[in-house]
Amino acid sequence: MDPDPHPYFHSEETGAPFRDCISCGLSLTHDPGQPYLVAKSYRGQECIFEYAICEDCRANLASEFSNESQEALTSYFMQKAKLLDRSRFLDFGESIEPWIRECAGCGTLRSEAATYSLGGILQGTSVVFDPYPICLCGKCEEEIQALLSLKTQGIWDDFVETHFDGPPGYTEDFPTRGRPALL
Ligand SMILES: [Zn+2]
Ligand SMILES: [Zn+2]
Repeated sequence: MDPDPHPYFHSEETGAPFRDCISCGLSLTHDPGQPYLVAKSYRGQECIFEYAICEDCRANLASEFSNESQEALTSYFMQKAKLLDRSRFLDFGESIEPWIRECAGCGTLRSEAATYSLGGILQGTSVVFDPYPICLCGKCEEEIQALLSLKTQGIWDDFVETHFDGPPGYTEDFPTRGRPALL
């Protein structure tokens, strides 16, 4: 039996592992070979936003992004967040904490960031390592959002509007000008 994913990537709402893709609604474990992303945003200790999305839907969403936005994201994650250097955390075995101890963009400790987001790739109920799990502070998330073209920002806004219903204005709580993290 697979161990549960660490509570880091449990749903705060249910206290249990995520079950369905936010986009297509399919069970995240219907295809044990398909990974999925869990993203959670925090203000201090409080989780203000969370979702899980299957790899197919994530790829579909990304493919709608403009070429320049895709390139900007790739170059950010390669150069600033140094995704290729993260293998060093494998030295810590199965421990998740070293991967998300500090912001991958600027090195600010998670414990000292006013807002931050966590991203994890899971398969079944196991966490898939390298380059995720990852932490980005609110400031770096804003930097990333600013790299996106207006068209891409609109696509992301539409996605959020379609899939999340909260009280009016609740998105103002997000670390990034009304948008949740894009991980
Ligand atoms: Zn899906
Ligand atoms: Zn940062």
